Amino acid sequence: MTNDGTKYQVEGTSPHMTGERLLEETRKATMFGEHLWVMAGTWKVDPAKMQAGAQALMDHESLLGLAGPGCYVCEEPYSARLAHRRCKGDPRRPR
Ligand SMILES: [Zn+2]
Repeated sequence: MTNDGTKYQVEGTSPHMTGERLLEETRKATMFGEHLWVMAGTWKVDPAKMQAGAQALMDHESLLGLAGPGCYVCEEPYSARLAHRRCKGDPRRPR
């Protein structure tokens, strides 16, 4: 659960967990040369809460760190200057 009360299913077909949404957002951003600003978070997870049907807690107490924001496509850190420029990254070419 996030601080705003959003719950994430540990197992299942949630687009958040399968990466389908990330692929779709990457496709849309690269189609128009836009940056895809993202942040990554790391939470300490209790294995006892990861059994099927259980909800993983993603609360403030379990949060270990955040990284970003940065562009998922060009892998550059966010800056107001870069945000106004066209994204030159290519998700098909890892850096
Ligand atoms: Zn970019």
